Amino acid sequence: MEVIVAKKAGFCFGVRRAIEMAFKALADGRRPIFSLGPIIHNPQVIQKMQEQGLKVVSSIHEIPEGTVIFRSHGVNAQEREEAVRRNLTVVDATCPFVEKAHEYVKRLAENAYQIVVVGDTNHPEVSSILSYTNGKGTAISSLEELKAIELSPRVGVVSQTTQSFETFQSIAAEIIRKTREALIFNTICDATKVRQEESIRLASKSEAMIVIGGHNSANTRRLKELCAKVQPFTFHIETAEELKKISLGPVHRVGVTAGASTPEWLIEPVVEYLKGL
Ligand code: SF4
Repeated sequence: MEVIVAKKAGFCFGVRRAIEMAFKALADGRRPIFSLGPIIHNPQVIQKMQEQGLKVVSSIHEIPEGTVIFRSHGVNAQEREEAVRRNLTVVDATCPFVEKAHEYVKRLAENAYQIVVVGDTNHPEVSSILSYTNGKGTAISSLEELKAIELSPRVGVVSQTTQSFETFQSIAAEIIRKTREALIFNTICDATKVRQEESIRLASKSEAMIVIGGHNSANTRRLKELCAKVQPFTFHIETAEELKKISLGPVHRVGVTAGASTPEWLIEPVVEYLKGL
């Protein structure tokens, strides 16, 4: 069986950095060690961390002492302040690309700009960006939603890092048209887009496509959907064990990709198994 693995399969820069920081904290950090929500959407990695003592909580108020790890998509300003107030040791794994968006909105708020964050209101990254706008920010995800807000003459715009460029561009263009002064900061990180485009190309030249990653990982599920559009024989699995229960039939060339939160040690056994078929 010919097995082609996407070059960009697995961890993006920000997730790799967050995982390394978390394992380092688990090796030598002040205990107990908590993360605000799961550090990444991959059950096998989280289980490994829990075996080493990580406790996953959903609120900073559940942490009495020790260390708190901030996830790659950032935390709210209030949570950060509370961690300092409680004298917790902070391991800040916020991705530098997300931090950049925080810095832009802080500066915009200080200079009295109205702030528009192009992104999904319910996403924790967007809520963390909004928390640095000092009440001057609104999140929108479409031109329709833009119509519903009253724009002041001076507006600053940033984006959720995983936002599609086309949506960001169309909203920014409309804001430029409607205001006297618009400051546009393109804070999109192209890690997701690059992964998706490569996976689609690979799926289109494969007879079957395997997408590895947490079933709870939105970016992995999206990869699966996109690959399935060009190659209906696409499977989303978390582990090699799961793949062994699937009959691939008489295929000769299979493509393999993985979400941004999938570690190398889950990808390798899948590739080895496929090569042995
Ligand atoms: S997708 Fe981009 S912004 Fe998000 S964690 Fe990865 S590198 Fe950072």
